[in-house]
Amino acid sequence: MYFAFGCLSLLLSIYLGLTAALYQTDTVSTACALVRAEISFACLIYPTGIWFFSLYTGIAHWRRWVTAAALIFGALFVVNLLSPYSLLYTDITMRPPLVLPWGETVHDYTGTESAHVASIYYTAVNASYLWAVCSCILLWRRGQGARVWSLTLYLVVQATASVHAESLDHNGRRGLTFDSLAFLVLVLLMSGVLRRELQRRTQALAASLDGLRSETQRREGVEADLRHLAYHDHLTDLPNRHYMHERLQAALDSAEQGDGALILFDLDHFKTINEALGHDVGDELLKGVAARISEAAPNGACIARFGGDEFALHISSLTDTGEPPAQAALRIAHEITTRLTAPLRIGDHDLVVGVSAGIALLPGLARDVDNVLRQVDMALYRAKASGRHTAVVFESVMQAQADRRLLLEKGLRLALDRDEFELHYQPQLDMQGRFIGAEALLRWRHPAHGLIDPVEFIPIAEETGLIHSIGRYVLQRACLELDSWPAAHAQARLSINVSPWQLFAQDFVRTLREAVASTRADPRRITLEITENVFLHDLEDAAGKIRALDAAGFHFSLDDFGSGYTSLESLKKLPVRELKIDRTFIEGLRAGSHDRFIEAMIAIAHYLELFVVAEGVETEEQRTALAGLGCDAIQGYLVSRPLPAPEFRNWLAQHAS
Ligand code: C2E
Ligand code: CA
Ligand code: CA
Repeated sequence: MYFAFGCLSLLLSIYLGLTAALYQTDTVSTACALVRAEISFACLIYPTGIWFFSLYTGIAHWRRWVTAAALIFGALFVVNLLSPYSLLYTDITMRPPLVLPWGETVHDYTGTESAHVASIYYTAVNASYLWAVCSCILLWRRGQGARVWSLTLYLVVQATASVHAESLDHNGRRGLTFDSLAFLVLVLLMSGVLRRELQRRTQALAASLDGLRSETQRREGVEADLRHLAYHDHLTDLPNRHYMHERLQAALDSAEQGDGALILFDLDHFKTINEALGHDVGDELLKGVAARISEAAPNGACIARFGGDEFALHISSLTDTGEPPAQAALRIAHEITTRLTAPLRIGDHDLVVGVSAGIALLPGLARDVDNVLRQVDMALYRAKASGRHTAVVFESVMQAQADRRLLLEKGLRLALDRDEFELHYQPQLDMQGRFIGAEALLRWRHPAHGLIDPVEFIPIAEETGLIHSIGRYVLQRACLELDSWPAAHAQARLSINVSPWQLFAQDFVRTLREAVASTRADPRRITLEITENVFLHDLEDAAGKIRALDAAGFHFSLDDFGSGYTSLESLKKLPVRELKIDRTFIEGLRAGSHDRFIEAMIAIAHYLELFVVAEGVETEEQRTALAGLGCDAIQGYLVSRPLPAPEFRNWLAQHAS
């Protein structure tokens, strides 16, 4: 629209210039040329005017109108150029000059109008005006008068000027006409209107630019918040695992990396605190721990919470102190763990938390972050296994052990289907040397690694949940074996090891009853060995199940007694009938030696009316000493190593007496 108005203004000013020049010229030939030029420009002005008018008012089908005007006036333009005295006249003559009211003299010309072409031209011009008038009326009626008042005013001025010129002509009078000057009105009016409109638009643009700017700021703020959320832990506001992952990757990628370390801290028994004191206390504890690690961490180190009770510390350079990197990392880990062991006041509680730490040195052998994280996990696992509250640096042997563990875990899933398990039996004798029973001990005959001991694979089975299916197999096999013992040993018992996880299972009582029913074994000849770990979980639940099974005839034995932390109180609550003194107590026993500790254990057991079996008896000396201390039965290499079923049956045959 602005371009159209520019074109229109330019054409109009040229047109007015030509008109002015005509008043000044004193030769007919120049006047002729000027008239022709004037009419040529008029032929350009009308379509341009319609073009601008259409765009300004936003009239429908504006292209059609503009095209029609361009075609008609274009044709007239050509005719005008070809006619000797322009399209309007057949000749042009000079009249005596006009003297204006203020004394100025101007030239005046007149012409004989060409009959047809002039009327076509005037019709086109009048039609253009009529079109503009109709459009204005239409817009006024549509309530858009505010937009077209300036155009309306121009049309009125134009109409007045035209009527004035016509009346002069009609009356044969001479004088100045103003119809060309009406164009000036149009240009001035529209310039004002458009200028105001432009100003308003500029202001609106500035306002929306402001809006846009503040919107961008708001968006940037939200984006920053989101980024923070994605990379930080909401509880402690420390960076999270994701953040640490990227930082480690950047450290590994950087060309000039120094000797660094990743230390992973894990609170000991955090779960127990959380469950005992509630999650609010647990959360506060985690915040306190986060704050302490942050205080103790070396400058430039990055601390992240890996979720749960795990915190990671990345130190990019350990060489500042001149210590070997492993030693520096261990020192830092110890400084932090020591600081963490000071009691933390949370609400009414003074909490003491133990911390274990695993350390992976960087760059080390690991080339990618996942590997570093695996290494630090392995080191942490080792720290926890070696009695907690320690820090351990990853070594490549751990990788080999972890690899073996992974291999065993995979194999364990298939072992049952491949029938790779077998039970060995170790006899138990009373102090007079009579056979009273045997303990079933599980073995895994691995196709590639040979016979694997349960100490290695039972923990894996417990972690992976495979213990339930393996446990069922052991119960079935052991009950079948018991059924096959010779009648001479009809009173002998069979002891079966039961993992705490099995005892926890909802269907444990049912599973056991089914195993017994399907094998026709007598529950009264079965002893289930449980370890003290059952007390660490749900004592009430365990006691309930033991009571139910005891009522069904099964006996329970407390295995590895003395190696853990059974309270006498809980021992009283559990209806067990037997107690097995752990091998570690027997190791140091000699004939005639008076071990007060074992004596006390036996006394308590007898006070609670429990049968006492000593495990791991390897020498005659130990047997004699145990007899002196009042022990009821022994089991160990002195009697026999655990034997595969056929060999055990041979052993039984030899001990038929
Ligand atoms: P445990 O119940 O304390 O079993 C006794 C362990 O001591 C057996 O090791 C046995 O071979 C070993 N032992 C027996 N007499 C002597 C001795 O005189 N000297 C020495 N040094 N050791 C002796 P094993 O068979 O390797 O079993 C290790 C542990 O694995 C068992 O300890 C038991 O906790 C677990 N386990 C074995 N079989 C099963 C099972 O079927 N289910 C479950 N849940 N655990 C099992
Ligand atoms: Ca046992
Ligand atoms: Ca034991």
